[in-house]
Amino acid sequence: MRVAIVTVGDELLVGDTVNTNAAWLGERLHERGVDVERVTTLPDRVADIARVVNEYRAEYDAVLVTGGVGPTHDDVTMEGVAAAFGREVVESQEVLDWLEAEGGYAADDLAEGTAEIPRGARLLENPEGVAPGCVIGSVYVLPGVPTEMKAMFETVADDFAGEVKHVATVVADEPESALLDRIDDLRRTFDVTVGSYPGDSVRIRIQGDEGEVEDAAAWLRDRVDAPDAE
Ligand code: ATP
Ligand code: MG
Repeated sequence: MRVAIVTVGDELLVGDTVNTNAAWLGERLHERGVDVERVTTLPDRVADIARVVNEYRAEYDAVLVTGGVGPTHDDVTMEGVAAAFGREVVESQEVLDWLEAEGGYAADDLAEGTAEIPRGARLLENPEGVAPGCVIGSVYVLPGVPTEMKAMFETVADDFAGEVKHVATVVADEPESALLDRIDDLRRTFDVTVGSYPGDSVRIRIQGDEGEVEDAAAWLRDRVDAPDAE
């Protein structure tokens, strides 16, 4: 299963808020064997959201959109997602009923727009708050507040599944450039995918079938300088 993640919010683009939602979703989806192929961050702007969601829903098996879900002026995600389907947002009776039952809100007390989701979308209940999410086609719209996003994702997590790949990480206390030949040999010898991530030391991430990955990791560990044990 191939999935795209779209995070919406001006504050993410200027670095005011760190995009922990994308990292968390990427990790959870990967654990489930899902291939996350895009992470895109967009401003709070209807046209941008509509264009990207429309492209990604055609390209990927599912799209997860987070942020900008709510009644304030800068929350335009529902409108953007609706536009991606050539639809409008409409006040949803399902959402109103849920807000009344779970949040104790009478319809008349709600800020305008609180219960609006794209026409034909299905409500996703928010276990941690009152901003509703929704599903329309293969597009899942979740709130931006991380605790709410996580809790809502768990309610649909079973929709996301794939072949879980085994991962092993080998840490080498050598310059990355010095490791190139050994990484080449590793890739030639074993049927695995390899990523190399330099930092204080180099983390080499090996992915594939369990037996092959463990053999590859053992082979490489024998051939690199391990960092000093703490
Ligand atoms: P609500 O309806 O509860 O306001 P929302 O979906 O409208 O939720 P936003 O207004 O976009 O969410 O953001 C709410 C809070 O969550 C903000 O403090 C924002 O910085 C934070 N947030 C939004 N997106 C992310 C993200 N991708 N990673 C981490 N934090 C985020
Ligand atoms: Mg926002």
